[in-house]
Amino acid sequence: MSNYQINTVCVQGGYTPGNGEPRQIPIVQSTTFKYATSEDMGKLFDLEASGYFYTRLQNPTNDAVAGKICELEGGTAAMLTSSGQAANFYSVFNIANCGDHVVSSTAIYGGTYNLFSVTMKKMGIDFTFIDPDCTTEELEAAFRPNTKAVFGETIANPALTVLDIEKFAHAAHAHGVPLIIDNTFATPVNCRPFEWGADIVTHSTTKYMDGHGAGVGGCIVDSGKFDWTQYADKYPGLTTPDDSYHGVTYTERFGLGGAFITKATAQLMRDFGSIQSPQNAFLLNLGLESLHVRMARHCENGQAVAEFLRNHPKISWVRYCGLPGDRYYELAQKYLPHGSCGVVSFGVKGGRGAAEAFMKNLRLAAIETHVADARTCCLHPASATHRQMNDEELAAAGVSPDLVRFSCGLEDSRDLIADIAQALEQV
Ligand SMILES: *Cc1c(COP(=O)(O)O)cnc(C)c1O
Repeated sequence: MSNYQINTVCVQGGYTPGNGEPRQIPIVQSTTFKYATSEDMGKLFDLEASGYFYTRLQNPTNDAVAGKICELEGGTAAMLTSSGQAANFYSVFNIANCGDHVVSSTAIYGGTYNLFSVTMKKMGIDFTFIDPDCTTEELEAAFRPNTKAVFGETIANPALTVLDIEKFAHAAHAHGVPLIIDNTFATPVNCRPFEWGADIVTHSTTKYMDGHGAGVGGCIVDSGKFDWTQYADKYPGLTTPDDSYHGVTYTERFGLGGAFITKATAQLMRDFGSIQSPQNAFLLNLGLESLHVRMARHCENGQAVAEFLRNHPKISWVRYCGLPGDRYYELAQKYLPHGSCGVVSFGVKGGRGAAEAFMKNLRLAAIETHVADARTCCLHPASATHRQMNDEELAAAGVSPDLVRFSCGLEDSRDLIADIAQALEQV
């Protein structure tokens, strides 16, 4: 499908039925697959033949949906995971071991920050967190000889900073490491990080890709462009035989296009087992079929709500990169020319208490630990997703105590604005 426009890939990518086959992707609700001889199956275990044997490793429904996301991002290989958390964990742990180091933007999802700074630190991996708006010199200074990757988010959740992907890609490549981009908020409809130099893309498909609050999921896509063999000493897991997998050398057997995802499947999915259920992959695909249509409406509503808030006397500040004058407007014009996302953040005058009162008064918008849903929802991160952080860490993550994260759904923007207006009136 690579010769089609992205809108067409959203609808038909990943699965092309043959004569008399189901029009919709079949849900292969089977843990296991049958073979005539042990020899047939042995070849699959040795990764000598491709085929299915156990759904923890691969499943046809999941592969079709991963294939669609791979096409949407313009990658060479992709895998689904049970959640965005699993996708980000695997993407880093696939190339960084105990004793290694990773450079990450400070403006990342709270769960990812926790994963990196607490849990992966316990596993012996060190992270240096760096302001996404840092100078090239500051970025350079974050690297160490044992640095194995650079990580950032296209549009940070919930800070809504826009990452200068090219700046981060240049620095990563100058130090011989890949750039991993979490592209959850932008989706490939609005930004394709591989076109700006990123090497690996991750998603929480739970957000816009699913889009209906129906299933938690994640995805990892490889661009196939990072040459692990050029830095073979740094990435022995990809370039030397894997004793835990019949001595296979991933870059030799699967090439640059397939090595990263095959290793993540054969080792990490085998051992950690964070698979997406085929049923959820089917639901995810239903979301993907309308992703391009929905993103346009999410962005339209985000823009309308941001413009309304900017002129409201009870609002102290608004962050939306589609607003001229926003700190990230220029970067958004470059990386997100067709729109960013439906999430707007702002401060209600009066601080934390006023923000909480405002949210209680909303009728259409629901208070939820969720974003990027068809139904408008909002959250006060300082008392929810980011509550484990102190004020200093909150500031570094771009989350002020008065910040309200408002995720515009697919409703009519006139109704959303009327709801906000009446809720503010009562504050
Ligand atoms: C939600 C989110 C995650 C975590 O995804 P889950 O599917 O909830 O595990 C990771 N990154 C970003 C940017 C997110 O918004």
